[in-house]
Formats: sequence, structure tokens, C-alpha cells
Amino acid sequence: MFPTFARNSRRYLSKLPDKLSTLAKFNFPLATNTIKAVTENIDEFINKKQKVTLNGHIHKKSRIRPTLSFGFLRDCDGEEVQFIANDATESRIIDTMKSLTVEESVSVTGYVQAKQLKEGESKGWELVLNDIQVLNSSNIDAPRLEKLKQTRPEDLPPQFRYLQLRTAFYQNSLRTRSRIAQLVRNVLTDEHNFVEIETPLLFKSTPEGAREFLVPTRSPKQFYALPQSPQQYKQILMSSGFTRYFQIAKCFRDEDLRSDRQPEFTQVDLEMSYVNSSDQVMQVVEDIVLEVWEKIKQINMYTVNEDGELVKVEDAAKRVRLSKLDYLTALQKYGIDKPDLRSNISFNSLEKFFTAVEDLAFPIVEACVLKGAFDPKSKASKPPKAFTSELNYSRRRPFVFMIRSEEDAENWYELLLQKHFMKSNNGADLQRMHQLLNLLPGDILAVSSRSELPYENPTPLGKFRQLAITEFPGKWQRPIRSANGLIEIYNGDKTIVGSWVVDFPLFNPVETSDNINDPYPKYDKNKFESTHHPFTMCKSEDYDLLETDPLKVRGEHYDLVINGVEVGGGSRRIHDATLQQYIFEEILHVNNYEQLFGHLLKALSMGCPPHAGLALGFDRLCAMVVGTSSIKDVIAFPKNQSGSDRVVESPTAVDEKTLNEYFITTKTDS
Ligand code: ASP
Repeated sequence: MFPTFARNSRRYLSKLPDKLSTLAKFNFPLATNTIKAVTENIDEFINKKQKVTLNGHIHKKSRIRPTLSFGFLRDCDGEEVQFIANDATESRIIDTMKSLTVEESVSVTGYVQAKQLKEGESKGWELVLNDIQVLNSSNIDAPRLEKLKQTRPEDLPPQFRYLQLRTAFYQNSLRTRSRIAQLVRNVLTDEHNFVEIETPLLFKSTPEGAREFLVPTRSPKQFYALPQSPQQYKQILMSSGFTRYFQIAKCFRDEDLRSDRQPEFTQVDLEMSYVNSSDQVMQVVEDIVLEVWEKIKQINMYTVNEDGELVKVEDAAKRVRLSKLDYLTALQKYGIDKPDLRSNISFNSLEKFFTAVEDLAFPIVEACVLKGAFDPKSKASKPPKAFTSELNYSRRRPFVFMIRSEEDAENWYELLLQKHFMKSNNGADLQRMHQLLNLLPGDILAVSSRSELPYENPTPLGKFRQLAITEFPGKWQRPIRSANGLIEIYNGDKTIVGSWVVDFPLFNPVETSDNINDPYPKYDKNKFESTHHPFTMCKSEDYDLLETDPLKVRGEHYDLVINGVEVGGGSRRIHDATLQQYIFEEILHVNNYEQLFGHLLKALSMGCPPHAGLALGFDRLCAMVVGTSSIKDVIAFPKNQSGSDRVVESPTAVDEKTLNEYFITTKTDS
């Protein structure tokens, strides 16, 4: 257990704290420099023996020695520097140094001198103290947590988030986030003439997909809801004469918290009117992400060309735009709608040769081959655990084979026939199947089944592909085609590969599986729900299908996928109130749509222009730029897996009197 605020350090005060020592904490010199600024001009500071004041926290406990005492200060960038006291230093300074505790905030003044370098150091400096002032002490928890702070600050107990945030990693994360926000604002306002408009956080309860957070009011049975996204307000803004709106918006979804989800998160939300194709929105968004990578990270962004190679995305006139991948192709080739396109692992359909019979609704047999995944001469007989662990698959797992010999390459499927997972198709030319797979000793083969309906996403093989990319970093990468036509090898970690995924089905059948882990999901094909939200327009070519076969209708929706992460999504919207009404009434069967969405229908019917937009997941984008897999690392005060903020200990119970004011009675158990 980690200590919480130490009880014995809590005092009940009856007297005003001592005037002199308290007021002294408010009177101190401002910093003249940051550690970073001194380091950048170190020669000048050393030559001039320049006097500087630095403000920050005590990073490590001071060492007091008869001839040379030293301590470490960490400042606002998370940078550290040593300060020293020598024979000539006043004794009051040494006394203060003796009493220092880690994480106290201090102001130190002194002159910069070159440091005696340790092995491996090329340059360094230290501050010879002229003065030191403690601006505030830290409590007893600070030294107790010291070891963790020095080794893995991310493991500091979450209630001490502020101690984590003081370290270089988090300082850099949140500063990067701030720079990205600034850059997004500049691109949208200066280059594209967008207007930043805030929309209300106290919104109304409307079913837009996720579960909402309700906000009680002091009127009986009346609730606000926190917005899942500013979707409806931004569409109403399009009817308000603003042709280009954006907002860095807080959104709230009361969903089960998976590792990369937060109940409140941030979107770069934008909408444009008088646009006649999705392309106009895509161009603006490409400008944003391209600038983020180029200006914040100084790295290029790539996309996939028709030959399956990576090409650099460029801006302005000669622009190479992000490629577009349609949803069905994404599912067929990669088994997921957000494929990591840095890798060229794809699937082979074995449809012509075998039919899966375990569940007749999932007849398509597919294979994924990882070429040269292991040394066949080695003793390895089992595939990496990640490929077969149930925990890594939400439904069924694929069959995974290690091809250790020519024989394995010839016979692998016999086991699946014996297990009655699949049957050979009549007249299937298995020799052709062998040619297609071209299996060799050292390959890993995964085989699974898929439905013709494109709703299982990811498929088991899609999940396997993701696991393979993580398990074998840097393997099976796509080649880069450079401007001079040469093929380059690249560093997988530093390569950013983006693509649009388009042509999603506008509706999904409602899932009826009894259990979310049923190996084969089941659907009611007569009940539909929107794949994204009910305001998305269909593709013109599919208009008539709205009446005859809604599941075949494709939407004008587009997702931005970068390195296998869905960074954003948006669509052209329905701006025709009658069509929107038809979708609510005839397809989604929302009986009380007037009550829920009447405000939007009214705004649409008041000459609302055609419009389209998108929202970028700002936390995810920042996490990618910072190079972390968790959005918590780019959020100052994230919630934990149970939705609690451990710094302030929210949520909390509320007293009866307050509940009464809100006409709320609570049950103790559910
Ligand atoms: N409001 C949508 C979302 O939150 C994004 C959009 O369609 O603009 O996913």
C-alpha cells in the first residue's frame, strides 16, 4: 500500500501561522532563466560567470560534505541541474541545504560554472550557490515516494498525479499537447478561415450512440445530458450562417472503460457548409495532420500507393493525397476497418478450396501467412503465446500452425478437416492452394472463418494481424517508394502511415448475441442501427436501396486511420429534413424522434445548407505524437478504470439535503 496524506502531519490550527516565515514564502526572486536556456548557451554563461536565479523543485536529497555539498533542482521543463556549496558558502545556506526535503519548491541563485565531467559526459554545468530560499515544504510522503519517482514516475500512486506531472516525460507530453492545440487553431483559422465557437456542455438527452452522463436540475424530473460530441449543435451552427466552424471540444461518454478510453475526452470538432464532396473536408484534415507531424515532430507522413508501396504525402499544389481504402476491401485484406498499413501482411481467401462448417453463417475460410517468422531448425514448436491466448481475442481464435517442415506445409489443413471446422470443396484443386500460400518451413500460418456479412470487425484474423505486428516489430513492412523512384528501408517506429477508410455500410443489423464473447456473433437482419450516427448521408448511387435494402446502403462516411489507430471520423450530413425524418421513422424506428431531434429537424428545414464535417480524437492524436500507447499520458488528470479521479477522489456521495433539492432519491443497492 502506498501512503496517503500522512495523518500525523495534519495539525489543527488555532493560531495564525507565524507571520515572518509565512510571508517570506511570498517574497522571492523571479527566475532569470530556465535550465534548458542556460544549457543551450552554456559557454557564454560560464565565460561570464553569469549570475542566474532558477526556480523549481528539489529533485534529489542534498549531500552535505565538509568541503563540498550539493543538491539537485528540477525546473518547469523537468530538466535537472546540480547546485553546490563549497568552503566559501555562507553557513546559513548550508543549513538550509541540510534541511531540504525532496519535492520542496525552492528558488536558488548563484553563478554558472563548468562541471567536472564524469565518464561519458561531454558537457555540463552546475550552479555555485549564493542564495537558496525554500518557498514551500513538501510533506512526509515525498521522501517515501522518492524511489518510485526516480525509477518509474508513471508508477507513482495516482493520487500523487502532481508528482508524476513534475517529471520530464509528463512535462513534455502536456507541452506537446498544448503546441498541437495551438497549431490546429492556426491551421484552421489562418489557413482555412474557420471560426472557433463553443457549444453548450449542458445539452439534452438524445440517443446518439453511447450512454450519456445525465445532469440533474432543481426542476423535478428534468435533466440535462453532457454532450457525446457537439454533433447536433454544429449542424445547427451550419444553419446559423457559419460556413466553417471548429472547436476543441470536451465530449462525454458513459461507456465501459477500456484501457484507451476515458469518460471525458477531447475532439477537434469541425464542420463546413456549402461543400459538395467529402474531399473538401478531407483536405482540411490532411493539412492539420500533415502539419502536426512535420512541425511538431519533423517527420514525414506516408500513404499507400496503388502498388502497395509507401509514398510521402505532400501538401500544396503537387500534393500527394492520403489514399482511400474502402471498408469491404479493408475487411477482406486486413480483417479490420483500421488496418495498420505500415505492414504489408494481408490475407488469402481459401474460399475456392474449403468451406467452414462450424457455423454456417461464417463459411469463408481465410489464411494469413507470416513468412519466415521462426528458424525451422530451432526447437520452437509453439507459436508465440500472444497468438493463441484467449485474452487477446474477444470471440473465437484462429487456428495457428507452425510450419516446421515440408510435410507441415502440405498437410496442415488435415487437422481442421478432422476437427470438422471445415470441409474441402468439391473439385477444389489443392495443388493450386499450395501454390497460392507457398508455405515454407519457418512460416506461421493462421486460419479462420468469416461471414459474408461485413459486420464482424475485427475478424479473428484481423486481430491476429494486429498481434503479429506488435509481436514482430519492424517485420513485413511495406517498402517506401521515394521521389527518385528508389525503394527504401525505413524505421517502423518513426514512420507515420495514414489512409482514409470510406464506403462504410450506413446501417448495421442489431446484434442479438446472448453474450458479447459468443464465438460467432448473431444479428437480427430486420432491425437496423446507424454504423456511426443517424445524421450521415448515403452515397447517391445507393439512394433507392434505402427503401428496398437498407443494409446494402453505403454511407458518405470517412475515417482517418494512422498506424492502425482511428484518429478521426466524419461524414457528409443529411441536410434535408424530410430525408432525415424518413431515416428516423422508417429505418431506425425512433418513435419519439420529434421529441428527441425536433430541434435539429427544425434547423434543417430553415434553409440549412449542405454540410459535412469530422472530429479528430485529440487525445489519441497527441498520444501518437508523444509516442505513447495510452491517452492517459497526454491528459493532465485522467480517470482510472473505474471512472474515478484519484487526485480529487471523484465521484463522491452527496448529502440528502442536496439530493432533495434535485428531487433525487437514491437506492443503496441495485
Ligand atoms: N460527431 C462525430 C463523432 O463524435 C464526428 C462527426 O461525425 O463529425 O464521432
